[in-house]
Amino acid sequence: MTLNVVLMLVSGTLLVRSFLGLFLRTRSRYAGWWMALLVLAGASSVVDLLSAVTGHAVAVGLGNGLGAATAACAWGAARALDHARTGWLHIASGPAVAVAATVLTAPSLGTGAGAVVTLATMAALFTLAAIRLWRTRFAPSGAGAHGASTHGTVAVTGLAVAVSILALFYVWRVGALVALGPSSPVYLDYAGASANALVVLVLLVVATFTMSELGQVERMIELRIKATRDALTGLHNRAELDRRARVRLAARQGPVAVVVADLDRFKHLNDTHGHAAGDRALQAFAGAVRRGLGPRDLAGRLGGEEFAFVLDVAGPDDAAARLESVRRACARLRVADGAHPLTASYGIAMRAPGESFEEAMRRADAAMYRAKRAGRDRIVLHRDEATADDVATADPAGEASAAAPAA
Ligand code: GH3
Ligand code: MG
Ligand code: MG
Repeated sequence: MTLNVVLMLVSGTLLVRSFLGLFLRTRSRYAGWWMALLVLAGASSVVDLLSAVTGHAVAVGLGNGLGAATAACAWGAARALDHARTGWLHIASGPAVAVAATVLTAPSLGTGAGAVVTLATMAALFTLAAIRLWRTRFAPSGAGAHGASTHGTVAVTGLAVAVSILALFYVWRVGALVALGPSSPVYLDYAGASANALVVLVLLVVATFTMSELGQVERMIELRIKATRDALTGLHNRAELDRRARVRLAARQGPVAVVVADLDRFKHLNDTHGHAAGDRALQAFAGAVRRGLGPRDLAGRLGGEEFAFVLDVAGPDDAAARLESVRRACARLRVADGAHPLTASYGIAMRAPGESFEEAMRRADAAMYRAKRAGRDRIVLHRDEATADDVATADPAGEASAAAPAA
């Protein structure tokens, strides 16, 4: 009885702490399941107290249902950490079985059969939760591989250990109940209500701390994403592109193309179709870039309507061919009714031996300005020789007619 009161108070305290520290901050689904679990664990200890006092079949049935519902929430939380949704029907079926078994068998068999079914249901649900947790690598939704976190994965593994212990304990409880019977001293001492309250108490505290740690990891990943990505287009921001490009240039022996791209007559688009259309154009362009470049290529927004890419290529022709597919995809985008096709000018600099990223960017930028002067909507390769330097793109068959090709 004392343990039940303690359990009730502790789960109430953990509930307040988790609500303020975890749920309000993350609003995540796993935090929601964890709140539900703490509410049910508290309620279940209250009902257990009542049923111990009254011995009433309804109180016993309700207590068993709440216990099974607590286990179901642990399963829901584990699935949510793995980005799986869990329907209420799935959650409700375990508790429903426990309540039905308790109520239906109460008059004939005492509370024994109901308890066996309830404990078996809880053992099954905790096992499912543990299996799910062992398979989960923690990454907040939408963060992708970028957000996968070793720290979070370690925390989830800790949770997996805790829930596995709980699952084993419930397997032991149901086994002891069936093999020894509810009045055997071994069952009462090591698998009964007080042993359960102690184990649950410890694991609730451990799991609550792990959950709030996950909340912190999530915040950290969110901040990292905010600090490294351009909010409008989702591409790398300038600082992150610089950082990654430097690493790439230092690591790669083969040819690397550094590209600067600038949308054409963008001010005109903003002025005639509005700033929102301009923003849509920036996003659409970023989408075309993402689809057109490979997974190893880097793409970032330098600011305004200027972008830069770092491409692993076989050589300059390969770089030009890959940008040509981006250029064509871009010309097919429609961002506003009656707007000119969206086009951009591209400058390529093949990284010279020992050259820094900044220096290659300066040359790519110079090539991009030459593309502008030559009539826009084209790709220009920077070469040191003053002659025969453009690889280029004559505007094919008027596909992007806004920019007339230079003579
Ligand atoms: P050019 O073909 O020579 O590149 O001409 P342009 O009009 O594209 O170049 P300019 O530098 O004159 O204009 C760039 C415009 O981009 C001006 C600015 O208002 C707009 N711009 C910069 N950042 C944003 C943004 O985040 N959203 C929108 N909608 N417009 C932006
Ligand atoms: Mg421009
Ligand atoms: Mg510009």
